[in-house]
Amino acid sequence: MADSRVPVFYDCGKCPGFCCTYPETRVTRRDVRRIARYLDIDVETAGRRFAKNGPDPGDRVLRHRSDNAFLTACRFLDSDTRSCRIYEARPAACREYPGMPRCGYYDFLSAERKRQADPDLVLAAWVTDV
Ligand code: SF4
Ligand code: SF4
Repeated sequence: MADSRVPVFYDCGKCPGFCCTYPETRVTRRDVRRIARYLDIDVETAGRRFAKNGPDPGDRVLRHRSDNAFLTACRFLDSDTRSCRIYEARPAACREYPGMPRCGYYDFLSAERKRQADPDLVLAAWVTDV
């Protein structure tokens, strides 16, 4: 979920959080320190509880848990409200995404909602099948 202080053509508030279902969202030591401070817990505990080894040596990624809309999602995504529970302290990777004025997930979602005349459509299968 990106910071929308610059003009963008997507609305995270109308999205179920597709980007939060990505299985390899990188989390750095600095991210872990910020999250730990935000949640008022120690850094070691935060690192263990919220991150796991990523695909590359030395990489850490956010842990997932089961989700109402998708098979799994980042453990910080609120399953009901579809918002980030640590938004102010979220990792840099989340702040930077999508890094451009358009979000491909949102474009696809908007097109499908329009095509199917369903403004609340959630394309769970699209994400869980990849
Ligand atoms: S997938 Fe795109 S629109 Fe949806 S929450 Fe992420 S950045 Fe926002
Ligand atoms: S930390 Fe927040 S913004 Fe980042 S993936 Fe998890 S729920 Fe989404």
